[in-house]
Amino acid sequence: MAGIAAARQLPEARILEKSRGPGGRMASKRLDANRADIGAQFLTVRDSSFDAVIQSAAEAGAVAQWTPRMGAMRDGQLIGSPDQQSRYVGTPYMNALSQYLASDIDILPQVRASHVERHGPGYRVHCEDGQVFDAERVLVTTPVDQMQALLSDFSVDMIRTRFAMAPTLTIVVESEKRHLMSADGPIEAAFGGDDPVLDFISFDGSKPGRNNAYWVIHSTPEWISPRLEDDVSQSGQALYAYAASQLGLEGQLIHSHRWRYARPVDPKTTAQKGVYQIDQGVWVAGDYLAGGRVEGAYLAGVEAARRLCA
Ligand SMILES: Cc1cc2nc3c(=O)[nH]c(=O)nc-3n(C[C@H](O)[C@H](O)[C@H](O)COP(=O)(O)OP(=O)(O)OC[C@H]3O[C@@H](n4cnc5c(N)ncnc54)[C@H](O)[C@@H]3O)c2cc1C
Repeated sequence: MAGIAAARQLPEARILEKSRGPGGRMASKRLDANRADIGAQFLTVRDSSFDAVIQSAAEAGAVAQWTPRMGAMRDGQLIGSPDQQSRYVGTPYMNALSQYLASDIDILPQVRASHVERHGPGYRVHCEDGQVFDAERVLVTTPVDQMQALLSDFSVDMIRTRFAMAPTLTIVVESEKRHLMSADGPIEAAFGGDDPVLDFISFDGSKPGRNNAYWVIHSTPEWISPRLEDDVSQSGQALYAYAASQLGLEGQLIHSHRWRYARPVDPKTTAQKGVYQIDQGVWVAGDYLAGGRVEGAYLAGVEAARRLCA
C-alpha cells in the first residue's frame, strides 16, 4: 500500500514487486472457487485525504463498508462488544483495493530486489534474477527486516532496532456456521482481547461481495513466536484445535499461513509521517513506521512521494 500510494503521486516511478501482484499484506488467498482475506481483515479511516481515496474506491466498487456484529474474548468467554467504528473491506476481496489503486502504475511483478548501492550520481538496484535498475531516487517500502537486507550498504541499524515486527499465524476454516454465539448474542468478528492465543477472528462470508463459508483466525504473536520454525500446517492444526475448543467452531481447516513480519511490535512507536531519509536519494516508508495499519502505510507512501519530489 505504501509503494502504491507513492507511485500514484510519481508518474515516472516504477515498482519492483516480488509477488505476482500488488497488495502485500492486504492479501487474499484463492481457495477452490473462492478467496479468503488472509492478511489485513479490514481498514479504518481517520485522515480526510485517505477518506477521499476510499470514497472514490467505493464508488468504483473496489471497497465497501463491513458491519459485522463484533465481539471480544474475555476470561475465556466470547462476549458481545459492539462499537461505532466504521470498517471497510476491499470488494470482492481485500486485495481488490490494491489492484484498483495500482491500475495505472508501472509495476514489474515477480522481481525481487536484493541490494541497493550507490552508482554514479544515483543508485543501482540489483535483483535476484540478475536484472539491474538504475534510478535517481529509491524508496523502499518492504517490511523493516527486508529493508535492512536491501539497504545493507547504508546505515539503518537505528531504524531496525527501534521498529521490530511481530509474526502471526493465520488459518482459514470452512464451516457451516455463519456466526458464533457469544454470551450476548451472535457475532461475526471478534478481537482476541485477553486471550493468549487468538488475536482476531472473522467470518469472511459476512463481508460484502463474498459468498463463502470461511472463518479466518489470526494468532497472537506471543503464541506463534516460539513455534515460528515449526511445520506451518501442524501449527495451523494446533491453532484450529484451540479455536474449536474455545469458540465451538466446527469445520475443516483448509489453509495455514505464517506471517513472519505481520505487524509492528509496538504500533505506538512511529517515525514522523512514516518516512525516513537514509541517503541523499534513498528513503524508506511503510506501516512499521506509521502505526501498523493500512491507512498509515498509505499516508506514509504519499508523504514519501512528497519528499522525493522536494
Ligand atoms: C495478519 C495481518 C492482519 C492485519 N490486520 C489489519 C487490519 O485489520 N487493519 C489494518 O489496517 N491493517 C492490518 N494489517 C496491517 C496491514 O496489512 C499493513 O499495515 C499494510 O498492508 C502494510 O502495507 P505496506 O505497504 O507498508 O507493506 P506490505 O503490505 O508488506 O508491502 C510490502 C511489499 O513489498 C514487497 N516486497 C518485499 N520484499 C521485496 C523485495 N525484496 N523486492 C520486491 N518486493 C518486495 C511485498 O511483496 C509487498 O508487496 C494486518 C497485517 C497482517 C499481516
